[in-house]
Amino acid sequence: MKIRLFNTMSRKLEDFVPLTPGQVGFYSCGPTVYHHAHIGNFRTFVLTDLLKRMFIENGYNVRNVMNITDVGHLTNDEDDSGEDKMEKGAARDNKSVWDIAKFYTDEFLRDSDDMNLLPPTERPRATDYIDEQIALVQKLVDLGYTYEIPGDGIYYDTSKFAAYGALTGGGLSGNRAGARVEFNEQKRNPTDFALWKFSPTDKKRQMEWDSPWGIGFPGWHIECSAMSMALLGAHFDIHTGGIDLSRVHHANEIAQSEPITGAPWVKYWVHSEFLMDKSGGKMSKSDGEFLSLSVLKDHGFDPMAYRYMLSLGHYQSQLTFSWEALESAANGYKNIVRRVAELLDDKNPGTVDDAAYSAWHDRILGLVSDNLKTAEALVAIHELNKDTSVNVATKIALFEFIDRLLGLQFINRANDLRRLETTDVPADVMALLDARIAAKAAKDWARADEIRGQIDAMGWNVVDTKDGAKLVKKS
Ligand code: AMP
Ligand code: ZN
Repeated sequence: MKIRLFNTMSRKLEDFVPLTPGQVGFYSCGPTVYHHAHIGNFRTFVLTDLLKRMFIENGYNVRNVMNITDVGHLTNDEDDSGEDKMEKGAARDNKSVWDIAKFYTDEFLRDSDDMNLLPPTERPRATDYIDEQIALVQKLVDLGYTYEIPGDGIYYDTSKFAAYGALTGGGLSGNRAGARVEFNEQKRNPTDFALWKFSPTDKKRQMEWDSPWGIGFPGWHIECSAMSMALLGAHFDIHTGGIDLSRVHHANEIAQSEPITGAPWVKYWVHSEFLMDKSGGKMSKSDGEFLSLSVLKDHGFDPMAYRYMLSLGHYQSQLTFSWEALESAANGYKNIVRRVAELLDDKNPGTVDDAAYSAWHDRILGLVSDNLKTAEALVAIHELNKDTSVNVATKIALFEFIDRLLGLQFINRANDLRRLETTDVPADVMALLDARIAAKAAKDWARADEIRGQIDAMGWNVVDTKDGAKLVKKS
């Protein structure tokens, strides 16, 4: 099937042509593990997952990498200054940086499972690739792209890279238009960025390494160049991330990589637009109030309802989160689940009609392969549900395909719903459910979350239904 993607680099919809026929390699910037990932981050991670699923359904051999950023990411990314986010998170939680990296990585993996994200082929941690990062900086030093600011670090001289900022059409000065930060006066150009930062002489950092230039830690951008090239080769097909990364982080990744690999380093750049909060701002981790997936679950929402809400929009358009919008998406999602449960209950499903299967399969896959038109695919799914000329067996086979493609777990949730009507719940588990309902009524989300963990450990899932929370035995 023909695949088209919007390439941020060319600002055009382009036909996808892989570097190697039948194969696709892509890299996605992963979470910085100093705090919970918020549901905005998951918008971008769902885009990555959808791309992977779309390529798999098109018969591609997919190799994708999503890193874990567990080092060297300063609160002021634009100017390589401010506090280290990991050290700040560690102080907040009263733990070591290594402990918070592990804690928030585990939380992220749990949330990723809840969002039904397929594991990437590789999930490297930046701290496991320090040697590769140092080697890359050394190459840039040898090629004459760097300079040292004494007592501060090794910097990349962006004036040496003619194509700097091409991704956003910014160039050397334009790329900084509107930036709010004061620039480090010792930098040669405002766009220059740190490749290696020196540890302060007056205090010991928890994460630091030896290097040819002195003890310190890598700048944020170099990790993605190093890990992507180590795991995908010098050139690969696609690089993804949130749109905020295109102007600085990805511009810098390109500047670091192309002097070594030749241009173009990456063929297609795919960026997800923001999830906005109600006040019209971008949902962001540095805000005290942000929504994690646990908060959504504690309000009784199935993570799949959130994924369905994301699928109702297009990844290139901003989406504003509100509880009302989520509620309405949850209702739409449950309607489809109920419909699928009816299909599964049917005693005379017939046999799969190959012609009807192919027609609907190709229509839905065609929409998603055309720059990920998920909203249109959902419209097609509603039509399929209403089409009385398609028999039950064919519809069930199509929902199996739809679940693989969109990751919305319709069949799984429909089976939960069916089991619900037939299972007896033990009294101790039922008592926990009541305690959780009470905790939620008291808005004690932490307690509600804790009780859900206990229910989970006893082998039961809490399922949201139109009549309130119910329990389903895990299969
Ligand atoms: P971080 O953990 O902050 O490094 O972000 C992880 C990913 O989430 C990056 O690709 C960001 O661009 C993306 N991201 C951050 N905030 C949002 C948002 N509000 N909506 C969509 N994506 C976001
Ligand atoms: Zn990155």
